[in-house]
Formats: sequence, C-alpha cells, structure tokens
Amino acid sequence: MSANAMDAMDKLYDFSPDLILSDVMMPEMDGFELLQKVRSETMRGDIPFIFISSKNSTEDKLRGFHLGGDDYITKPFQLDELVARIRVNIKRSERLRKESATDFLTSSLNRRAMETRLGIELQRSHRFGRTFTVGMVDIDHFKKLNDTHGHLVGDEVLRTIAGKIQAQLRDIDVVSRFGGEEFFIIMPETEKNNAFQAMERIRTSIASTNSPGADGNHISVSVSIGLAEFPGDGIDAESLIKAADMAMYQSKAAGRNKVTVYEAAPGTSLAEKNN
Ligand code: GH3
Ligand code: MG
Ligand code: MG
Repeated sequence: MSANAMDAMDKLYDFSPDLILSDVMMPEMDGFELLQKVRSETMRGDIPFIFISSKNSTEDKLRGFHLGGDDYITKPFQLDELVARIRVNIKRSERLRKESATDFLTSSLNRRAMETRLGIELQRSHRFGRTFTVGMVDIDHFKKLNDTHGHLVGDEVLRTIAGKIQAQLRDIDVVSRFGGEEFFIIMPETEKNNAFQAMERIRTSIASTNSPGADGNHISVSVSIGLAEFPGDGIDAESLIKAADMAMYQSKAAGRNKVTVYEAAPGTSLAEKNN
C-alpha cells in the first residue's frame, strides 16, 4: 500500500507487486500520470494497472484505457467484483509473461528470456564471488536431417532433444533455445569440469536414441557441446557466449558428438581481454 504515486514507483521494484490498484485523484501526481510513468518502465512497465475512482465520467474512463489501463472501477464498488477483476488481470498477465519468455516449439526459455536470466546470474555470481558454467549445444548435421526426413520430423527432433537436455539437469539450471538448432544452458554454482559430466550424460542420451522416422527410415542424431565458466572464461554475457561457442566449434572440428571445455590459449583469455 502506497500513500502517493512517488512511493508506488519505488515499490514497483522493491516489492515487485503483481498489480497496481490506483486512485485517479492524488496529491502531487495523479493516477493518469502514474500510469504513464509505470508504462514507460522497461522492466515492469507491463504490470496490470487498475483504476479505482469516484471520478466516473466516460471521459475519465476512456482516458484511463487510452493510456494503457487494464480496468477502471468506479466508487462505490462491490468488493466481490473488485476481487474478481483483480484475479482476472493477474492471471492474464502471468500467462502473457510466461508466453513471452517461452519458445513455442520446444517450451524451453526463448533467447530473450535467457539473456535476462544470464544477466541476473552474472550479477549474483559477481556479487557473491561464485562460479557458474554455460553450455552451447548444437545439433550435428541438422540440415541433412531436415533434407532427408522433412522439417516436421526436424521439429519433432528439436522437441525431443530439448526434453532430453532438461531431463539431465537440475531444477536450478536454465535451458533455452538460443537459435534454430542451438540450445544454451546456464548452470548456476557449477564449475565447468563438473558441468562436463552432465553434458556427457546429455550427449550420450541423445546419441543412444535412434527413433524411427515418419517414413520408416532410421533417425540418428547427435549434438556437439561447448562449455565455458564464469569468471575464468568470460566476465560478461558476450564473452561467455563466445567462449562456449568456440568450445562447441572445437567439438565440431574434432568430429562432432563431443563435449569440449573451453581452454584459453595462454595470454588470450576472453576474461582478460575484458578486464
Ligand atoms: P553442423 O553439424 O555443422 O551444425 O551442421 P548443421 O547442418 O546442423 O548446421 P547448419 O547451420 O548448416 O544448419 C542448421 C539447420 O537447422 C538449418 C535449418 O534447416 C535447421 N533448422 C533451424 N531451425 C529449425 C527449426 O525450427 N526447425 C527445423 N526443422 N529445422 C531448423
Ligand atoms: Mg547451428
Ligand atoms: Mg548444427
């Protein structure tokens, strides 16, 4: 509960509320101004915003909706109705937030959501002096698989591989679809040599499954993986992704179906370059 709009703006980040219920007439900053200010925030600008006011002219209501308000309730109001409207709005915004973070084909996180998570993990690990590992997983010869069996089978293989990656990881690990046939994994509190074991389990579980294709032909698929560690191999998103990518390409060059841990050549560490 905030006494005024300025206080509400502070609480937007301090308490991360699910919804804002705001009066229109308030001292210093009115509800319309507050809404405009909230909507211009990049991180929480999409929070559900409901007006509750004794100003009940159509003009006021339209202004509220025009500025991006989700609902406008006039006083006096029925408590049951207010609660129902709040519930509907929170549910809708949760669904939208989830949808906008999810890759529709594989149900993994999408790239944008992954970048947000990576940013949070970088900050957290930096602050507490922790280590974490990232992995780049790229499907081998996927173009050929599509060409041979068709894109729908390719899509099914992508879904299966996403599931197999997820199955071998802990709940705190994050799997995302990085590109067309690439997955990016964040493993908090994990050194790269320990992550290697998990990646080997992923690699073998994928390589050992041969499923029949729709046309009855045999489908065998493998992945190449690269691993890099914070802070040793990179201290920001760009350098970590680059290091994991380079290790992944080493796996490709070594014949594919392989996991490679990034090792910087002496004097060429990506982490050092960024210092
Ligand atoms: P490499 O072993 O070197 O990684 O070979 P590759 O064929 O996997 O690599 P390349 O980058 O040449 O091809 C990637 C292919 O992935 C091209 C594209 O047809 C396929 N692909 C990308 N996104 C999707 C998708 O959403 N669905 C399907 N079915 N295929 C996709
Ligand atoms: Mg690729
Ligand atoms: Mg590939």
